[in-house]
Amino acid sequence: MRMLPAPSGTGIIFRRTDLDGFEIEAISRNVARVSYATSLMKKGVLISTTEHLLSAFIGMGIDNAIVELDNLELPILDGSAQPFVEMIQRVGIRKQRRPRKYLRICRELEWRDSNKSIAVYPSDSYSVAYSINFPHPLIGKETFQCELSNGNYLRHIAAARTFGSRADEQAMRNMGLIRGASRENCIVLTRDGIENGPLRFRDEFVRHKVLDLVGDLALLGRQILGKTAPARAGNAMHTALVSASCATKRSGKRFPSRKTPNQSSRDPPPTLPPAPHSKFLRKLIHKEGGTGNRPRTRVSGFLPAAVCGFPPAGR
Ligand SMILES: [Zn+2]
Repeated sequence: MRMLPAPSGTGIIFRRTDLDGFEIEAISRNVARVSYATSLMKKGVLISTTEHLLSAFIGMGIDNAIVELDNLELPILDGSAQPFVEMIQRVGIRKQRRPRKYLRICRELEWRDSNKSIAVYPSDSYSVAYSINFPHPLIGKETFQCELSNGNYLRHIAAARTFGSRADEQAMRNMGLIRGASRENCIVLTRDGIENGPLRFRDEFVRHKVLDLVGDLALLGRQILGKTAPARAGNAMHTALVSASCATKRSGKRFPSRKTPNQSSRDPPPTLPPAPHSKFLRKLIHKEGGTGNRPRTRVSGFLPAAVCGFPPAGR
C-alpha cells in the first residue's frame, strides 16, 4: 500500500496497481455489499476493509489522497487506525487553498432495526455518541461520546483495535474473510476474557466502533456537521446510512420539486439498489461550502508519499 499526494478537489481515491491502475473513488455510489468490513466496488473491481484508513483520514483532516494497492484488501496492521496515523504524521500534512466543503445534517432523524439504531442530529461540529451491548463479561454495555475535533480522534479513537471471538473466526475464514487475522491485529475474545491483553483502553471495544463509524461515514465524500448516535450498529448499518443518502440524491433527481437547494444535479447516477429507509434521509442532507458562520477551515490533506507493508496472510 502506498499513499500519494492529491490536488484539492480529488477526494480519496483507491488505485489498484495490479489492475492497470484502476481507480475507485471512496464515495457512496461505490459502496459494495457489506459483511464484516466495508468494501467498495466499481465495474466488478473490489477494495475491501477501507474503514480504518478512511477513519484515519477523517480524524486527521485529510480530504485528498490517492491510495495505491496491489491487492483487493487494505492491510489490517494492528487492527486500529494508529499505524496509518503514524505514517501520515511522519510525512506531514499540507494545507490546500480550496476551502473544505461539509455535509451539514439539516434535521434530526432516527432509524431503527429491531434492537439496533442509528440517529443523526444537526450540529455545528462533528461528534459521535456510540452505545454497544455485547453479551460478554468484559464488554456488556459501553457508551462513548466524543467531539472529533481538537485532536480528540488521535487521543481517544485512533488506537482502538478491532475485536472478534474464536467462535466466529472459523466461520469467517470459511467465507474467505479475515485472511490476515491474527493475535497481533485484533483483540481475541474468549468465553470470559481476552487471549491477548491488556486492552489499550478500558472501553476499547466501543471506541473501535466509533473508529469504524467515522471511516464508514467518510464514504459520504465529505466531513459531516452533525452528531451521530448509533446503538448496537455495525458496518452494515453505517453504510446503509451512506447508501440512503445516495438514494436521496436519486429521489431528488426523479422528483425535482423535492430536491434540496444545494444538491448538485451533475452527480452521476448511483448504481445501488434503493435503500429501504431512504425516506428518512430525504432532504436531510445538503452539501455546502464554507460560507457565513459555517466553518471555513482551509485544511485539505496533501501527503508526500508514504509506504507500509501488508501483514503476511494466514498467520
Ligand atoms: Zn474496524
